[in-house]
Amino acid sequence: MTSSNVGTLYIVATPIGNLKDITLRALEVLKSVDCIVAEDTRHSQPLLRNYSISTPMLTLHDHNEREFSQKILARLLQGQSVALISDAGTPLISDPGYFLVREARASGIQVVPLPGACAAIAALSVCGLATDRFSFEGFLPPKSMARNQRLECLKEDGRTLVFYEAPHRILGSLEAMASVLGGNRQAVMAREITKIFETIKSDTLEGLINFVKNDANQQRGEIVLIVGGCQESNEIKPEFENLLRILLENLPLKKAVEIVTKITGQKKNSVYQLALSLSKNSSQPSD
Ligand code: SAM
Repeated sequence: MTSSNVGTLYIVATPIGNLKDITLRALEVLKSVDCIVAEDTRHSQPLLRNYSISTPMLTLHDHNEREFSQKILARLLQGQSVALISDAGTPLISDPGYFLVREARASGIQVVPLPGACAAIAALSVCGLATDRFSFEGFLPPKSMARNQRLECLKEDGRTLVFYEAPHRILGSLEAMASVLGGNRQAVMAREITKIFETIKSDTLEGLINFVKNDANQQRGEIVLIVGGCQESNEIKPEFENLLRILLENLPLKKAVEIVTKITGQKKNSVYQLALSLSKNSSQPSD
């Protein structure tokens, strides 16, 4: 139950590099709340100093999140307003805050989003790969067996895949992706977005491996890796189209589709659609 005496929890996005990438509303809220909860107060100091914000700060680490969330909750229930920020970008996106938001909402506290920078969305917006459907995968597991298992699960996913990656793991991850997803997959490496050495490189996974191997600088800084989704072709090769045409002259449509699907391994629906369009222009027996 929400009461007017209860404080508000603001989830505030901060820049991912360029300090100017902060909204006017975020600055207003950070100045006016009773306290700012940050992942690392030392990390956030330059941003706050730059905008003359002297609001008291508290630290929320991943390891103390559950326990610490209760303390913040108590403040909110006493009527204090609190802003949560992370080191960079949008809190809770591969960053702490989940327990705090969950508990606050469960206690009827108003949780208000202040949208802004997010590395995944910034990278998607410039990658030139399909963005109508994407899957945010965050960080892959560091151990190679678990990493390969995760990639196996994504192998046939048609959505664009978005990963965060640490610079010392980028080469290993690209190699694992090439081996599981195929070296010809299109991908984009977005490094140091909004910073001096911003690099947005599009290539196949194999191409990106060479790019990273040939330039040690590419294994530095912060990286978003975007990989094109599985593009299982629905197109039927001309020789199979011919076979379908011949079968349609002699067999019912269903039977012809069944045989061609078995021989080619194509999706039944694709073969069926082609058979329909071919049969419109001929007088083959149909069922
Ligand atoms: N919450 C953040 C967000 O909204 O993007 C992400 C935090 S996560 C702990 C840090 C990871 O985000 C980095 O390892 C990197 O993969 C990605 N990242 C953050 N800033 C970036 C930048 N300027 N350029 C490229 N990737 C960045």
